[in-house]
Amino acid sequence: MPVTLNRFLQAARPSATYEVMDRVAARRAEGASIISLSSGEPDFDTPPHVSEAGIAAIKAGHTRYTQVAGLQQLREAAAEKFQRENGLQVDWRNTLVSRGGKQVIFNALAATLNEGDQVIVPAPYWVSYPEIVQLCGGEPVIVPCTAHSNFKLTAEALEAVIGPRTRWLILNSPSNPSGAVYSREELEALGQVLLRHEHVMVLSDDIYEHLIFDDLEFFTLAQVTPLLAERVLTMNGVSKAYAMTGWRIGYATGPAWLIKAMEKLQGQQTSGPCTISQRAALAALTGPKDFIRLSRVIFQQRRDQVLKWLADAPGLRCEVPQGAFYVFACCAELLGKVTPKGTVLRSDEDVVNALLDEADVALVHGSAFGLGPYIRIAYALNDDSLHQACDAIVRFCCALRSA
Ligand code: GLU
Repeated sequence: MPVTLNRFLQAARPSATYEVMDRVAARRAEGASIISLSSGEPDFDTPPHVSEAGIAAIKAGHTRYTQVAGLQQLREAAAEKFQRENGLQVDWRNTLVSRGGKQVIFNALAATLNEGDQVIVPAPYWVSYPEIVQLCGGEPVIVPCTAHSNFKLTAEALEAVIGPRTRWLILNSPSNPSGAVYSREELEALGQVLLRHEHVMVLSDDIYEHLIFDDLEFFTLAQVTPLLAERVLTMNGVSKAYAMTGWRIGYATGPAWLIKAMEKLQGQQTSGPCTISQRAALAALTGPKDFIRLSRVIFQQRRDQVLKWLADAPGLRCEVPQGAFYVFACCAELLGKVTPKGTVLRSDEDVVNALLDEADVALVHGSAFGLGPYIRIAYALNDDSLHQACDAIVRFCCALRSA
């Protein structure tokens, strides 16, 4: 039988982050000792009081369905979080809890995109944004944001790219993969442009909100431009803030009509997220916040160490990221060089492949994030492993010869 796939799926690329993680798993199964700086997830354990809440939920028999949009208590806690931390006026009814931030994004786009609709995605972007747009029948419009603008979208670039078919803009601050953080003024400038284009919605992906360094303050678009609130979906989750990636809980707030549509979709898809995870997320959102403060300090120290170690790598250039847990390093000067095993490096993907095969270090190539030639280094690992990996990267760069 001829295999026919859905044309949107056929055109989409698999997740580049998961592809690397799968390759690492395959190499480890063969006995290789790989240090993986590829996966974007905190290496810490989930805080004990949160895990205990999950265990207590099982023991108490909270093992049945919840409402599609999530437990009312968790939605209230999410509304309270948006109010407390972001200054947003949120009614819990205008919140939705999903199976991770990814499902929030998928729900929002699937609920609203029709063929021909465009979604502006500033690059570098998280690998899944354009693919989800494409899977939902939309057209990603990629706006390159280079190191000259600190990898951020400027008001001028936004104004230039908005057209009649623009349906959404996706903003992500702190950014995966660049670690760039938008200031209040930068968001306000984008907000001014958006106020002039009433047909454009904004998805503000704030998942790295708490991983922000150098005493910077976090701002989100709906907070700094309240007049836009009716057009912004503000999303967050417990994965990065509370080391809960595997629990799969994301949540969002936005206009009532959009939340309703997303709920309808979710009700025909996964139903409400895992009940046990929701109970744990409730403990995270309503419990002590010292874990967040501590992980911010640790990640900032790691960032500084990694930048210091990588300064010895000839041919790599790193900007100082102000948030998340990634260094996005330019590897342009490595291209054209040859590895000790004779591989010619023609692209950032070649660099990443050679680092995995010849230096046992796993990274993700920048072009998967829409901006090459770069490499993304996730420093969500203990200091010893980070030091070893950075040493291996330095040795790799030193050993390259000209073609
Ligand atoms: N956000 C993480 C990353 O960029 C997790 C993997 C994913 O879903 O892409 O590595």
